[in-house]
Amino acid sequence: MKILATDLDRTLLPNGSWPADPGAIEMFNELTDRNNVLVVYVTGRNLALSEEAINEYGIRHPHVLIGDVGTSIRKYETTGWEADSGWDEHVKRTSPNWDAEAVREIVAGVEGLVEQERVHCGPFKQSYYVDHDNREAILAVVDERVKGRYDEVIIYSYDSQSGDGLLDFLPQSATKQTALEYVAEENNAGKDEVVFCGDSGNDIQPLTAGFCGVMVRNADDQLVANVKSALEENPDLRIYHACGLEKLSGYYTSGVIEGAYHYGLFADK
Ligand SMILES: [Mg+2]
Repeated sequence: MKILATDLDRTLLPNGSWPADPGAIEMFNELTDRNNVLVVYVTGRNLALSEEAINEYGIRHPHVLIGDVGTSIRKYETTGWEADSGWDEHVKRTSPNWDAEAVREIVAGVEGLVEQERVHCGPFKQSYYVDHDNREAILAVVDERVKGRYDEVIIYSYDSQSGDGLLDFLPQSATKQTALEYVAEENNAGKDEVVFCGDSGNDIQPLTAGFCGVMVRNADDQLVANVKSALEENPDLRIYHACGLEKLSGYYTSGVIEGAYHYGLFADK
């Protein structure tokens, strides 16, 4: 089974400041359907916000939703969403020291760090808004208090739309990358049969994890720079940067389609 996995905001969804191709979403829906690929959305959004994106933009339902930056996995069945409880157990088993409440307490009071609304946090996700201009100093304090104590990963990204810095503490074993590896394994797909598309910060991990990576044309500078240094270290990584294909601009949805063609996921035109 071939898998097309994609980030949502500013990757599949045209919600940035670059121009979007009209009809690209309908094309994506048709092509994924016709070519019989397993569609996986890999997003920072929770379930409610993912549903909102599906309704607002008319993107198809995925077969699998990796939500909350990898901390939840749901399958879309005819009866609705079904949580993958195996994933929760896997995370607890493989990150035994993870403790969201302990992380919350230890970073309380760090200046420039504001806890995100409860709906953006969960048992496997503790998230903050960060004063982006002072991020280096803030992240240094955070590292000092947290790093290595809770089987955690600390992921920083920048929302170019709102201007907010975003900081996620997640269990080491539950990230966009590990969740996608889990879904690939469940579906008996080798890494060369999985295409992952992204545009920013926390997409770097799945992009450099050995899958067939795609950066949409509007990928942010930080991601492009991080990919460049990853490629210097490991030239065997497959990472394609969309640049436009025939009538497709390479931005957002069009970049996802271009990437899928690049790796042979879509056979027809
Ligand atoms: Mg994005």
